[in-house]
Amino acid sequence: MIHLDRAERRRQDEEHWQLIDSLAHSMKTPLASIRGYAETLQIAMPDGQGKTDEYLGNIMRLTGSLNRTINDLFFLSRLDRAGFPDPLEATDIRQITEDVIDSRRESAAKSDVKLQLTVVDVLPRVFANKPALHEVIYNLIDNAIKYSPHGGEVHVSLDLAESSVLLSVHDSGIGIPADEQPRIFERFFRASAARAGDYQGAGLGLSKVHSVVKQLGGSVRLESAVAVGSTFIVELPSA
Ligand code: ADP
Repeated sequence: MIHLDRAERRRQDEEHWQLIDSLAHSMKTPLASIRGYAETLQIAMPDGQGKTDEYLGNIMRLTGSLNRTINDLFFLSRLDRAGFPDPLEATDIRQITEDVIDSRRESAAKSDVKLQLTVVDVLPRVFANKPALHEVIYNLIDNAIKYSPHGGEVHVSLDLAESSVLLSVHDSGIGIPADEQPRIFERFFRASAARAGDYQGAGLGLSKVHSVVKQLGGSVRLESAVAVGSTFIVELPSA
């Protein structure tokens, strides 16, 4: 009976992802054309045509954001159905964290957010791969910067806990209400504070973090208080 339930759930999941894949595919081509037309118009257009240049820029920005949502759906679908495309191996989480921080420095500086990293002296590698870890660390740090006010601070730390590595991303941002925290890793879920403010997003980043961490045999949890800040703590088995 349990076997049947599991098989049935698997079949439903497969149908669900097939539907999402088809939808994503059917949106990708027209979206690329819309972006192509906007780009061509922007290049062809002589300077100084009132609001047209600004509107074409907006079309390109919005198609870019829709395209990222579609790619996120492909990513989640592939991960759920086939696991990671790259093999798992002992991976240097410190190096990847430093790379992500370097790549987000400019964005943090623009928002006047201080970005800090603390790493324990001897840190083991984790059993993962570079793209998977990058996905997790990038999404958490990107959110921490995005949901912090000007003058805020983001503190990333890497620690050891028995046979695991702990990655913690702490911010002094808008926080997440306690009653919304249990839903935070659901696909497309966006907390009320994020929806009320001027924060762009589709609500897929944390669901990617959760799926990747789960597939790596780890866990992710959240501690947060509204208007105080949030800390996401990822625990991954060391290699
Ligand atoms: P989004 O694209 O909306 O940022 P995510 O899946 O990354 O999607 O996050 C889901 C929701 O969780 C966000 O919409 C926001 O409400 C909340 N959230 C995530 N990270 C933070 C954070 N560091 N501080 C406050 N809220 C956050």
